[in-house]
Order: sequence, then C-alpha cells, then structure tokens
Amino acid sequence: MSFFAQYSLLAPLSATVPELGWRGLALDFAVLFGLTVAAILIVLAAVGGFFEVMNARHPERRIQKHRVNRRKWQELAHAPGSVAIIALCFSGGLFAQAQGWTIAPLALSWWTGPLMLGLSVVLYDAWFYWVHRLLHWKPFYRFHALHHKSVAPTVWTNHHETLVEGFLNQAFYLLIPFILPIPWQLLVLQKLYDQVSGMLGHAGFEHFASPAGRTPFPFASTVFHDQHHGYFKYNYGHTFSWWDRMMGTLHPRYDATLESFEPKKPDSSATVEPGSKPDQT
Ligand SMILES: [Zn+2]
Ligand SMILES: [Zn+2]
Repeated sequence: MSFFAQYSLLAPLSATVPELGWRGLALDFAVLFGLTVAAILIVLAAVGGFFEVMNARHPERRIQKHRVNRRKWQELAHAPGSVAIIALCFSGGLFAQAQGWTIAPLALSWWTGPLMLGLSVVLYDAWFYWVHRLLHWKPFYRFHALHHKSVAPTVWTNHHETLVEGFLNQAFYLLIPFILPIPWQLLVLQKLYDQVSGMLGHAGFEHFASPAGRTPFPFASTVFHDQHHGYFKYNYGHTFSWWDRMMGTLHPRYDATLESFEPKKPDSSATVEPGSKPDQT
C-alpha cells in the first residue's frame, strides 16, 4: 500500500496508486526522503540560529574558555552528506514499516506511546555508545577522525562527520521498526529530539546546566559531549551517562564541571546572621 494513501494528511503529496508497482514505491520513498531532508534543514537552521544568539548573549557560559573554533562555518561543508545519510536511514525505516515489511507497530495509546518512545530512546543510547566505542577502535577511527577535528565543537559540528560514521549511527532507524513495534509518529518525535539534542550537545556553551545532568541522575548535558571532544577518551554516550558510568569512561571531573555552570543559589547566611531575627519591616 502507498505510504501516503495510508496517512491521509500526506495523501495529497503523492499521486501514487498501488498499480504503479515499484515506480509508485520509488515515488513515495522519494517524497518521504525529501520531506525528511526538508525537516532536518529547518531544524538545523532554527536550532543553529537559536544557539548563535544565546552564545553571543552569554559568553560566560563557554565551556572551553581558552579554545575558539575558527573553522565552524567550514564544518558545514560536510552537512549535505550527513543530512542525506540521516534522511536515507530514517525514511528507509519508516517506509519499510509503512509497507508492512517490518513487525506490525502497536496502535498509539496513552501507554504504548511513553513505553515505546522510552524503550527506543534507551536502545538508541546503547547503540550510540557502542558504535561510538567501535569508531574509536583503531581500524574504524579513520571514519571518525573528521568529527574529532573539532576539539572545541560548535552547534554546527553535529553534521561534521563522514558518510560511514553517519550511516553506522543512523542504521538504528533502519533497523528499529524490525525489532520494536513502535508507531511511526514516535519515531518522528525521537528523530526530532535527536536532531535537537545532537546540536545542543555540540553547542560549546552550557546554557541548561541542572542537577539532572549529574549523579545520581542519568542524563547527559552539553558539558558531557563537549568533554568528549576536549579530552577524546571520555563520555561516549548520547542521552544518558549510565553506559559511561558503568564502563568507567566518564570524565572524572564531569559532575563537578557541570555543577560549576549551574545558577548559584542565593547565600542565605549573607542576609540573615545565624541566630538573629529577620527584619520586621
Ligand atoms: Zn568520538
Ligand atoms: Zn561530537
């Protein structure tokens, strides 16, 4: 069945009918691929613009104080290939599911939604950690060396990668519909989250420091991936820090560094002397 015939919102975008056979399939896939590329480019421009403004307004939030990446616009030269491979893998998985070539997805409901999305995010984090460890292994490092040319990453570094690295990371989205009965809407949501969080992780400035990013909580932060670029052999994870904590690859000063970016609590002892009464004005 045609993908766009199945999802009425998108139906006007395709004149495909089942009798068109493989040509119809190819047309459907091309439209889906094109829509994915367009969505990624919109996110890229919006998130990139947001961080350019935020970073200019808050120079004190720069993570690597003495390093400035002067090649940030050059890094965008690799974005077309990276975006294409991301879109190819993502639309490939979605398309396979829509054709019924994968396991049947569950109907979207109040419990399947959070459960499937949560599972998929946890699985992707594990995938990313181990693929990343593999890319740091000597025989594979040549595919990852380009990404590490950015010792001080910027929001544009997210797509500074080789096609092989992009494919190894994004193959998750090709495979997951064959393993998890996840509704397509949640895959779209997860991909959107990945695009935004991938750029956030490379922003180079910590704007959202919070205790949720450090012990005992499992979430990562911008400092987390920034330290991966700055120190090279720590912090391989994506959304969570738990794989790094378990495998002993967390940077020893990660928690303390993140904490140093958190807004300072007002010092109550400065206004009220111990044992004194507060002003009665
Ligand atoms: Zn790396
Ligand atoms: Zn990176």
